[in-house]
Amino acid sequence: MATFLVFMIILFFMVVVLGQSSTDASPAEAQMLTNGEAATAVAALPTIALTYTPTPQASPTLKPTATATFTPTPTHTPTHTPTPTLTNTPPPGATLTNTPTPTLPPPQAGLLPTPNGIYSYTLKVPILMYHYLSVPPEGADKYRIDLSVSPEDFRAQMQYLADNGYTPIDLYDLSRAITSKADLPAKPIIITLDDGYRDNYVNGLPVLRELGFTATIFLATDFLDQGHPGYLTWDMVHEMSAAGIRFEPHSKSHSDLSGRGRDFLVWEMLGSQETIAAHIGYTPRYFAYPSGRYDDTAMQVLEELGFWGAVTTLGGTWHGFTGRFEWTRVRIHNYTTLADFADLVALGNTVGGKSRP
Ligand SMILES: [Zn+2]
Repeated sequence: MATFLVFMIILFFMVVVLGQSSTDASPAEAQMLTNGEAATAVAALPTIALTYTPTPQASPTLKPTATATFTPTPTHTPTHTPTPTLTNTPPPGATLTNTPTPTLPPPQAGLLPTPNGIYSYTLKVPILMYHYLSVPPEGADKYRIDLSVSPEDFRAQMQYLADNGYTPIDLYDLSRAITSKADLPAKPIIITLDDGYRDNYVNGLPVLRELGFTATIFLATDFLDQGHPGYLTWDMVHEMSAAGIRFEPHSKSHSDLSGRGRDFLVWEMLGSQETIAAHIGYTPRYFAYPSGRYDDTAMQVLEELGFWGAVTTLGGTWHGFTGRFEWTRVRIHNYTTLADFADLVALGNTVGGKSRP
């Protein structure tokens, strides 16, 4: 009898506790379920509640889990921490910050001559700029005329260089001299010809060969690929390359490269570079901006593509490592007399420069 009473009392307490815990549990459980995928089970809960005796233990576990699932934010912070470790990596190379121009490693590491130590050198070397080496056709406009130097004038100018102790070098020599003070001849000069006109072969190559001069020709490769009669053929390029003439890219289509997107720039720059490489057997490293048009993006893409430098159409004779994607040139005009020419090339070898009255 007494045991029956005790049993009834226990039963009574269990019903009370069960009823309380189920009402306590339901909000927490509902909260948790809305977060989980078993949301449909919520609807079934009220009916099951009475017949479910083991639920009391459910109430303590439900509350903690509900709060635990609501604090996932700490797990997000670890994903942000990897970035600080990246910014921490440059300091090991802090000893290199003394070099005037910190540069990204080129795609083929070690090929770009970079300053050897703290200093690089800014050198005064005239980079002559030619286009056509022929007499302009009848009715040619002023631009075509100005871009043309007659074969006689070209020969006289080259002869002047030979007679006055100038030694033509290429842009690779210039880079090495700037970065590591590689020896240059006493009167270095660089001869460049833009666009790759056929008269460069017809009227230029014999003179250059005769004098043992090197020169650098910038090619817009599409014109050669298309077999345009006004431009060099690839066979001519092979012959001139074997004779010591350098060929460097001047884009594929001779398009304005300022204000362009990266894809277009890569197409024009890498495309012409690879085309020339396929013909001459090595990767050319210098670029001439078509019509002298370029911007910061163009220079950036050239650097990323592993170019060593680029020439503009602006005038000047000082060349350094930092400004290697904006090297200036000395334009030779149709009307440039031999006396003017002598003055122009002398400018590169005088300390203070020439002051014209
Ligand atoms: Zn051009």
